[in-house]
This record gives sequence, structure tokens and C-alpha cells, in this order.
Amino acid sequence: MKDLRRLLRHLAPYKNYVGLNILFNILMALFTVVSIPVFIPFFRILFGMEAPVTSRPDGIHSIGDVIDWANFQFSRIIEEQGAAQALLLTCIVLVSMFFLKNLFRYLSMYFIAPVRNGIVRDIRQEIFDRMTILPLGYFSEERKGDLMSRIVADVQEIEWSILNVLEAVFRSPVTIAGSLFIMIYMSPGLTLVIFILMIFSGVIIGGISSRLRRQSGELQDILGVLVSTVEETLGGLRVIKAFRAERFQQGLFRKVNEQYRDTQTRIIRRRDLSSPLSEFLGITVVAILLWFGAQRIFAGEIGAESFMAFLLAFYNVIEPSKSLTNAYYNIQKGLAAVDRVDKILDAPGGMPEIDMPKRIQQMQEGLRFEKVSFTYPQAEQPALVDIDFFLPKGKTLALVGLSGAGKSTIADLIPRFYDVSAGRITIDGTDLREARVEDIRGLLGIVTQEAILFHESIRNNITFGLEATDEQVTEAARLAHAAEFIDQLPGGYDFNIGDRGGKLSGGQRQRLTIARALLCNPQLLILDEATSALDSESERLVQEALDVLLADRTALVIAHRLSTIRRADEILVLREGSVVERGTHDELIARKGEYSKLVDLQGLG
Ligand code: ADP
Repeated sequence: MKDLRRLLRHLAPYKNYVGLNILFNILMALFTVVSIPVFIPFFRILFGMEAPVTSRPDGIHSIGDVIDWANFQFSRIIEEQGAAQALLLTCIVLVSMFFLKNLFRYLSMYFIAPVRNGIVRDIRQEIFDRMTILPLGYFSEERKGDLMSRIVADVQEIEWSILNVLEAVFRSPVTIAGSLFIMIYMSPGLTLVIFILMIFSGVIIGGISSRLRRQSGELQDILGVLVSTVEETLGGLRVIKAFRAERFQQGLFRKVNEQYRDTQTRIIRRRDLSSPLSEFLGITVVAILLWFGAQRIFAGEIGAESFMAFLLAFYNVIEPSKSLTNAYYNIQKGLAAVDRVDKILDAPGGMPEIDMPKRIQQMQEGLRFEKVSFTYPQAEQPALVDIDFFLPKGKTLALVGLSGAGKSTIADLIPRFYDVSAGRITIDGTDLREARVEDIRGLLGIVTQEAILFHESIRNNITFGLEATDEQVTEAARLAHAAEFIDQLPGGYDFNIGDRGGKLSGGQRQRLTIARALLCNPQLLILDEATSALDSESERLVQEALDVLLADRTALVIAHRLSTIRRADEILVLREGSVVERGTHDELIARKGEYSKLVDLQGLG
């Protein structure tokens, strides 16, 4: 029941539409039921029985009176206008009933269409928004492809099952109850027989579907792995080809693909069992019914025409019962999808904020690390130990050290991608954990190693969500030495740079991200210089662009270029998470310690 509520909570914003859908579902069910007794006079004439109803009921107090009244009117028509005319009339009433029934059926579907698609949109948006809010740590635990398959496949599954619930809960029971009512009215004994048989069938069918939910969850998990494999393979195609690992990757995919087929086959076989089984059980019930019914007719307890109507009513019970069992199956599958989707939606969101966090809109003094230590979740060794430094406003601090020394970790602590394990980080004396996360990130501009570029136009890659005029964009591009190459591209600023900027050279990509940083004009810039080797012309252009970017700016630079390091106001040399030397370039060179070794070793450029 709690599960079902979780499923139905998505309906809340569509109350009106759902209400209309329910209304028309009920109307449709009513007309299905009401059209049954219309057949009675038809059979009556067909079986050559004389219309015996000659007395008009005095007043209408019960359903029985309605039927008697209808019979009376009908007898009169036969008497006055003949049987053929009466049959014609019956047919017209029948067609009208079915017309209304199907009109309501269409209307019920008409109003549910925006709900189905609205729910899909809502859940997708909710998941997507959530994905952008979740802390980075979350994504090192989950596979990207699995997350993708949830936002595509599981959401679709939920749509189906919600639709089924609506139908099952509001249409089928009304039809079933109405038909049962007529059946009981006509023959309580026969109805009891049917009731027992139906319960028996229900138990059998319920038994089959009980395992469906677990299997469905399994299936969606496998689909997640499948999409992950595709995603990872496409992302690493260059490497896969270079290492001639195509066969290996194909093998990996084949394994998951086959696993998917096997599970899907098992599920489908189980599901497909429901239809033949219920038809077989149905016909068994009908046969038993015919047997009992015939006995009653022979005994004169029930008229043949009423028995036919009874059978029709029973037919109206079978169909919705089937859709109830089907709904049960689909809900099981849907709930498995809800489980998977909720795992994302319920994951603890972004970084925790204290109540009434402090506002920082301007950085006046600078950024300070005080005895900061940090250990990654699930890591044994600390990545940073006792880091102390002060970066005053307008100055540049460079971090250098071998790969794995902890440079990127320092950079990731500032936007609070992670929180420190010990010590504290302050901006203008305010602990980052006491400030609004939005404010902190609003001060920052981050230019990373792998230029983060999207399959979009140059303009959108530079503005990246910021409101900016065309003049501002071209000015930023000019300062970043990007304008020259952009003007050469077909379409200029509208040129689509391809997946992750694949259509640009390494140097062009870097200048584009520098243009982005210039446009956003951050109060505190975090720059992770790319290590990729550029030809000397590109290198010069990138360097000049960086000079413009860093001029008079407060910047923390993970530096690889000697030219950048030289102009830094302070250099921290890191090794295994600790600062081992600090000072300016000239001071450090004079010391002939770790730094001068690094410069000799790597040339740092
Ligand atoms: P650098 O940027 O200097 O190359 P990093 O800051 O990336 O170094 O890494 C510092 C240490 O933290 C390394 O030992 C690395 O293995 C570890 N590390 C980096 N990222 C993670 C992570 N997400 N989970 C666990 N350990 C990590």
C-alpha cells in the first residue's frame, strides 16, 4: 500500500485531469453494465416468447421495477407496432448505449494523455535536477550509464504502471461490481458458483506474478549495465582502438546483452502465461456455468433469455478481471522502476548548509587554508595533511608537485565539492561551511584540465548559462585570442564544436575555456592548467590569453607552465599531500631543493 502511494504521488499535480478521467471511466463502466439488460427483450423475441408483461409497475422503487417498467413498455410496442419494429428499436437503443460507452471511453483516454506524458516529464526533470545537485562523491560510486537508463527506461515503466493503476482502480471495479449486481439480481445461486471459481483462478494467477517485481528490478539493473557499457565504450573508443581491445569490449557487451535477453525471456514467458491461463480458466468457468445454468432452465427456475443476459454480464466481468490481473503485473514491474528512481531522488543532496548561512557577495581580503587535512571517503591515506596558506585578494598562488600530490584535491575543497576532514577554509574570515554554497560558487570561476565543453555552439560554450550580449562574448573571445580562429569557422559563433569540443584543437579548446572564464570575470579564479603539449604557436597564444586572464586577479593555479609559475606571488610545492616548500620562483630556485629538482626534471612546461 505504501508502495502504491509512492507510485500515485506523481499524480498529485494532475488532480483535475485525473478526476475527469475517473469520471468518464465510471460513466463508461456504467454504460457497459446498463447495456446488458437491453439484450433481454431481444432474446425474448428471438426465442419466440410472447411478451407476458402486461401490468405497469406502480411507481419505481428498485432496479427490478425499472426492468419491469422497461418490459412493460416493450410489450406495448410489440403489440402496437409489431415485433420487427420492436427489434429495430432495441437495436437503436443498443447502438446508442455502445456509442455513449465508447464516447466516454475515448474521453477518459483523452484526459489521461496529458497526465501520462506530464508524469514522464516531471519525473525526468526531477531526476535530472537531482543529478545536477548531488555531490560529486555520488558519481564515483554509480555508473553513468545506469543513471542514464533510469532516466530513460525506468521512467517509461512508471508511466505504464500508473496508467494501469488508474484503469484497474477506477474502471474495472465499477464494471465488475455493476455486472455482479445484475448477475446477483438474476440468479444469486449461479453468481455464488462463479464467485468461488473466480477466487480460485485469482489465487493461481496471483501466484505467478509474485516473482515478477524482483525479476523486473533485475532486468532494469541489467539494462543499466548495458547502457553503461555503451557509454564507456563510446567515451573510450580512441583508446579501445589503439589497444585493439574491440573484441574484448564486444565480449563484455555480448555478455550483458545475453543476460538481458535471458532475463527478459523469463519475464515474458511468465507474463505470457497469464493470458492463456486466464482464458482457459475462463472457459472452464463458462462450461461449469452452462452446465449449472441449463439445469436451472430445465427446472424452470430461470428464463433462457435471462440466462443469456447473465452470460453477457459474466463476460463483462471477465474482461475487467483480466485487466485487473494485467494491472497487477504491470504495477509490480512499475514498482521495481520506482525503487530504482527513488534511489536517486532520495540520495542525500548537495553539501549540507547550516541554518541561516552567512552571505559573502564580495571577497575583500582573501582565501585562507588553516591546517586543512582531508581524506577521501573510503580512502585509507589522507590526500591532504595540514595545509596552511593565505591567498590575498589580487594575488596569484601556484600549486606545483608531481601527479597525485594533492593539487586537484585542494582545488576541489574550495567550491565545497568535498568538506575538509580537519582544519578550516575561510574567505574573509568566514568558514566555508557557514556560508551559503551558492555564494561561494558565485565568487568562483573554474577552468579545469579537461576543458569542459558541450555539444553546442561556440557562443553557448562561452556564455555557459550567463546572460551576455554578443559584444561581451566577442570581447572575451578577443582577449582570449580565440576570436581569430572562431571567425574562420563556418558559422562563426554559431559553429557547433562537437562532442566535448572534438572539432577543435587542444589549444583552441583551452582558449575557449579561458574566454568563458574572462566573460564570467570571477572574484576568485581556480585554474587547472592543462598538461597537454601544444605546438609553440598555440602555446604562445594560450600563454598570452592566460596572462590577460590572470592580470590583477585573485587566482589559485595548478601550474604546469614555467611562465605561469614565474609570475605567481607565492608557490606551494606539494608532495604526498603536504607542503614541502614555499616561496617565489627565485627564492625556491636559490634553495636548490624539491622545486629546483622538479623544474630540472619536468621543465614544468
Ligand atoms: P594531483 O592533482 O596533484 O595530481 P590529486 O589531488 O588528484 O593529485 O590526488 C591526491 C590523492 O588523492 C591521490 O593519492 C589520489 O589517488 C587521491 N584521490 C583523488 N581523487 C580521489 C577520489 N575521488 N577518491 C579517492 N581518492 C582520490
